[in-house]
Amino acid sequence: MNHFNADMLRQGVQNVRSNFYNEEGYDNSVTPNQVRYLRILANQIGKDYLNRVEAELQKGLGVRKASALIDELIRVKNERTVEFQKISVGISLSSLKSGYYAVITDSNSIRFFRITNVDKVEEGIDKKWLNWIFVREQAGDNFFKVGSQNPALGYYRGNYQREMETIIKNPLESLKLYGKTIGKCGVCGRTLTNAVSRELGIGPECLKNVGGY
Ligand SMILES: [Zn+2]
Repeated sequence: MNHFNADMLRQGVQNVRSNFYNEEGYDNSVTPNQVRYLRILANQIGKDYLNRVEAELQKGLGVRKASALIDELIRVKNERTVEFQKISVGISLSSLKSGYYAVITDSNSIRFFRITNVDKVEEGIDKKWLNWIFVREQAGDNFFKVGSQNPALGYYRGNYQREMETIIKNPLESLKLYGKTIGKCGVCGRTLTNAVSRELGIGPECLKNVGGY
């Protein structure tokens, strides 16, 4: 035997209402499958959308509006996935040639890097390092390893993501900045004595192919 109580009555009235009146005029109320899908999507996106979906359900949602909301959630989910992949995958240094690079940082200081792209097997280098890229930071005359790119991964792993991003955007500028600031060729590291070379940051020999860029 069925027992009716105030809650059930209210729910019943709400169901009837939502079938005939809502913001969009006549519409059927949201289906259980839509509710389930909305919650799954919101859960995958994050707390902001979980709250949003629950608020919309509370207000009462028609099939059409639920469908539009599902489309929106799918779009947001895809956007955030792309953003997440960008952050977690990082940036590829594969286009960089071996050389010396300088970067002006966010705090307006300057950092110096030596990047070694093992793009060919040379004498004295184990061939297991082929296609690895090593990043060292220069401090005085010392070079400290600050990350590398494993060819199997294809992106830089290290603490200087933003700096590497700046170099990638304009490697030639970073090479020249190194040469102008340190007084050594950004491509080969030899001391620049010629006035024009010092102005450019690259020596006359290396200028012929501007470091391969
Ligand atoms: Zn040079």
